[in-house]
Amino acid sequence: MVVKYLTLLFITINFIFLGIFCFGESERSSQPATVGFLIHGGASREKKKDISPELEAAYKKVLTEALEAGYDILKSNGSSLDAVQSAIIILEDSPLFNAGKGAVFTNTGTNELDASLMDGKTLNAGAVSGVKRIKNPIMLARKVMENSRHLMMYGEGAEDFAKSQGIELVDPKYFYTKRRWQQLEEVREKEKQRKKSESSALFKIHTADCEYGTVGAVALDQEGNLAAGTSTGGMTNKRFGRIGDSPIIGAGTYADNQSVAVSASGAGEYFMRLNVAKDISALVKYKGLSVQEAADEVIFNKLTAIEGWGGVICLDNEGNMAISYNSGGMFYGYLEAEGKFVIKFFE
Ligand code: ASP
Repeated sequence: MVVKYLTLLFITINFIFLGIFCFGESERSSQPATVGFLIHGGASREKKKDISPELEAAYKKVLTEALEAGYDILKSNGSSLDAVQSAIIILEDSPLFNAGKGAVFTNTGTNELDASLMDGKTLNAGAVSGVKRIKNPIMLARKVMENSRHLMMYGEGAEDFAKSQGIELVDPKYFYTKRRWQQLEEVREKEKQRKKSESSALFKIHTADCEYGTVGAVALDQEGNLAAGTSTGGMTNKRFGRIGDSPIIGAGTYADNQSVAVSASGAGEYFMRLNVAKDISALVKYKGLSVQEAADEVIFNKLTAIEGWGGVICLDNEGNMAISYNSGGMFYGYLEAEGKFVIKFFE
């Protein structure tokens, strides 16, 4: 008899627990899923200087369009990769940013573009560097990731691959903007002056050679997947086939569902030495730092210690974001709440 009662009691308790568990589950799944979205338009060495109110309004307009495009995808349950890519395409197509149309010029007067994209779910990634005829390098980086056995392609080889993928190639003249050409002329002129007074001018990264304008995005979708992407023309007056951090996975771009998504901007030579994006991810993953603590540790302590400058935008797998830069300023924008975007310059 006692055994019978005990068995009944056991079964009843089990049902109660099962009920609580199932209710809990359905409660959880009926919660709106968290999405997160953050974009940047580059870090700048200098504080705000020659930006007129008109130019500021123009930047704001394009950054808002990019945020809206990404957010539309995320809220309709699209992937973080698609959100990142669509925002970056808009920024690449704008002559205002140092990516795609509007990229800075190399020492020989060409435009050589770099881009990368990473999927936090699979840790798969794609990158292109030194491409001269790809209208949207971020699209090609995605194709490298999804349709090839490789991770990074450069120069003409990458452009041949682009043709095989139906990616749009343009005349190199497409990338010309008067503003960037004038910047090249100014930098060349300053370099001439410096060479007279310095013996190692070639090996120094000078303030004037680095202008804000690299673009990037990080996103968290409703499935909990993180993605990050970055696109740039690099550094004004770069030479000898110089490649920066933006197409280097772990330096300028990184995404891991178990930690964070990061996109960087700044003097790439320093970001590559520190593996900035991966280092932030590692501090979150292995040391349990919050995303903001990790970003600040790398930017304010490590990057500053080697006299590097720049910034990062980051998003963790719960949608917490971090923006950290030790330079004069950074352009960035983020999704604050359902459909509400915030854009900031030099703050
Ligand atoms: N990080 C880019 C590079 O070094 C430049 C930038 O972000 O402004 O190529």
